Amino acid sequence: MTSARISADLRQLVSQRAQGRCEYCLLHQNFSIYTHEVDHVIAQKHDGPTTAENLALSCLSCNRHKGTDLTTFDPATGEITPLFNPRTQIWSNHFLLDNNARLDGITP
Ligand SMILES: [Zn+2]
Repeated sequence: MTSARISADLRQLVSQRAQGRCEYCLLHQNFSIYTHEVDHVIAQKHDGPTTAENLALSCLSCNRHKGTDLTTFDPATGEITPLFNPRTQIWSNHFLLDNNARLDGITP
């Protein structure tokens, strides 16, 4: 979720670092109706700071689905599982984008 005041410079850094792509689904800003948002990977309510190391560019859909969550239930096992963290994890180790632009998770 986005609620903190984030400076224009910090927003620009986050957007440029992500090359305009949502860091969760890779949708480029140019292909989205809505302006991508700057997400607190660890939400402020969990004491996540408003620093470059805790911010990620996110499309509206990903940001709304993620919200302030840090974990979810793995649909395969029902186990509580941490959500993908674009600051500490490598996207391609956790997701696969096939030739039909279908995005699949390949890890819990
Ligand atoms: Zn997205």
